[in-house]
Amino acid sequence: MDIILLGPPGAGKGTQAHHLVQHHRMRQLSTGDMLRAAVKANTPIGLEAKGIMERGGLVSDDIVSALIDAELLAMGPATGAIFDGYPRTAVQAAELDTILARHGRKLDYVIELEVDEETLVDRVTGRFTCANCGESYHDRYRLPRVAGVCDICAATEFKRRPDDNEETVRHRMAEYRAKTAPILPGYEERGIVRRVDGMQPISQVTADIEQILANAQLRARPARASRSSGQG
Ligand code: ADP
Ligand code: AMP
Repeated sequence: MDIILLGPPGAGKGTQAHHLVQHHRMRQLSTGDMLRAAVKANTPIGLEAKGIMERGGLVSDDIVSALIDAELLAMGPATGAIFDGYPRTAVQAAELDTILARHGRKLDYVIELEVDEETLVDRVTGRFTCANCGESYHDRYRLPRVAGVCDICAATEFKRRPDDNEETVRHRMAEYRAKTAPILPGYEERGIVRRVDGMQPISQVTADIEQILANAQLRARPARASRSSGQG
């Protein structure tokens, strides 16, 4: 199953994607993570992206779509994709359709996480992640169970993003409203949008997403059963 987790910065996309990859045969494809890796490695893409990311602007459509294309190629068809932070523009949404078709895949759901703006600022400015596995934590809402030790991989180093300050976050939100939110109606027309109240506690958001995936699997099963019975 291929899904998009859609929502503004701080909505909880990364947090939920990390849960999903631990419990399903799925992989998180975060263009933000890919770009941060490119910046760290000083690649040509990283050099181009660095300043844009620091200001909270959007990196060019061609660059992020090429990153996604390459990841899907490396991943193979048996693993589901969780698109996190991509697509962010109408051009990227169209490119994703083209890329998926080329890889013989199709988008099953766009799961929109709805969170109000002041909560987003609070979440993003309190965010820190495990330096090893990327698990997302928060100064107040999600501390590691043992102080200073990652719940998932037991690493003891954590980091904060340079763009997680209030000024940049407000700019990233404005970009979301202007360029990303307008891609939703197209997905709505296709009947694949599912909304989740992202203001709920993390575990309840997870439960709602799991319910969406379980319903999808239930719907897929009779079709498969009748196909196999047809073959005798
Ligand atoms: P995104 O990937 O959408 O930018 P994250 O998953 O990194 O967002 O979440 C942003 C911050 O908010 C993190 O510090 C995370 O621990 C916290 N967080 C995520 N979901 C919730 C939630 N439902 N309630 C409270 N805090 C949350
Ligand atoms: P994120 O980790 O998703 O919050 O993204 C961090 C930053 O990376 C964004 O503010 C953008 O500058 C850049 N970025 C990530 N994904 C995209 C994308 N799909 N299109 C354009 N820019 C992106």
